[in-house]
Amino acid sequence: MTGPANDNKPERTEARVARCPICTKPFDTKYRPFCSKHCADVDLARWLGGRYAVPVRPEEDEDGMATGEGEER
Ligand SMILES: [Zn+2]
Repeated sequence: MTGPANDNKPERTEARVARCPICTKPFDTKYRPFCSKHCADVDLARWLGGRYAVPVRPEEDEDGMATGEGEER
Protein backbone atom coordinates (compact mmCIF):
# COMPACT_ATOMS: atom_id res chain seq x y z
CA MET A 1 0.00 0.00 0.00
CA THR A 2 1.80 3.06 -1.16
CA GLY A 3 -1.24 5.19 -1.69
CA PRO A 4 -1.61 8.72 -0.47
CA ALA A 5 -1.61 8.78 3.29
CA ASN A 6 -4.08 10.89 5.16
CA ASP A 7 -1.47 13.16 6.61
CA ASN A 8 -3.13 16.35 5.52
CA LYS A 9 -5.16 16.59 8.67
CA PRO A 10 -5.50 19.99 10.27
CA GLU A 11 -4.76 18.49 13.64
CA ARG A 12 -1.16 18.54 14.72
CA THR A 13 0.14 19.49 18.09
CA GLU A 14 -2.49 22.12 18.62
CA ALA A 15 -3.84 20.50 21.70
CA ARG A 16 -4.46 23.87 23.26
CA VAL A 17 -6.61 25.05 20.44
CA ALA A 18 -10.25 24.92 21.29
CA ARG A 19 -12.12 22.75 18.90
CA CYS A 20 -15.56 22.82 17.52
CA PRO A 21 -17.69 20.50 19.65
CA ILE A 22 -19.55 19.51 16.54
CA CYS A 23 -16.88 18.53 14.09
CA THR A 24 -13.84 18.90 16.35
CA LYS A 25 -12.17 21.27 13.96
CA PRO A 26 -10.39 24.38 15.23
CA PHE A 27 -13.10 26.89 15.94
CA ASP A 28 -13.42 30.26 14.38
CA THR A 29 -13.40 33.24 16.69
CA LYS A 30 -16.26 34.55 14.64
CA TYR A 31 -18.47 31.62 15.51
CA ARG A 32 -16.80 30.37 18.64
CA PRO A 33 -16.88 27.99 20.13
CA PHE A 34 -17.87 26.62 16.79
CA CYS A 35 -15.93 26.53 13.58
CA SER A 36 -18.74 27.88 11.49
CA LYS A 37 -22.31 29.07 11.62
CA HIS A 38 -23.31 25.71 10.33
CA CYS A 39 -22.00 23.92 13.38
CA ALA A 40 -23.47 26.61 15.59
CA ASP A 41 -26.85 25.89 14.10
CA VAL A 42 -26.33 22.21 14.59
CA ASP A 43 -25.57 22.69 18.23
CA LEU A 44 -28.50 25.00 18.60
CA ALA A 45 -30.74 22.45 16.99
CA ARG A 46 -29.56 19.89 19.46
CA TRP A 47 -30.44 22.18 22.28
CA LEU A 48 -33.85 22.97 20.94
CA GLY A 49 -34.61 19.39 20.16
CA GLY A 50 -32.16 16.64 19.44
CA ARG A 51 -34.91 14.85 17.59
CA TYR A 52 -34.62 16.69 14.37
CA ALA A 53 -31.05 17.76 14.59
CA VAL A 54 -29.41 18.89 11.41
CA PRO A 55 -27.70 15.94 9.80
CA VAL A 56 -24.13 17.01 9.85
CA ARG A 57 -21.19 15.05 8.68
CA PRO A 58 -17.92 15.64 10.50
CA GLU A 59 -16.14 14.52 7.38
CA GLU A 60 -17.66 17.29 5.33
CA ASP A 61 -15.75 20.48 5.16
CA GLU A 62 -18.23 23.24 5.63
CA ASP A 63 -15.93 26.03 6.55
CA GLY A 64 -14.03 27.99 3.99
CA MET A 65 -17.14 28.71 2.02
CA ALA A 66 -18.62 31.71 3.73
CA THR A 67 -15.73 34.08 3.93
CA GLY A 68 -17.82 37.21 3.79
CA GLU A 69 -17.89 39.37 6.84
CA GLY A 70 -21.10 40.41 8.48
CA GLU A 71 -23.21 38.58 6.00
CA GLU A 72 -25.20 36.69 8.56
CA ARG A 73 -25.80 39.53 10.92
ZN1 LIG B 1 -17.58 22.71 13.33
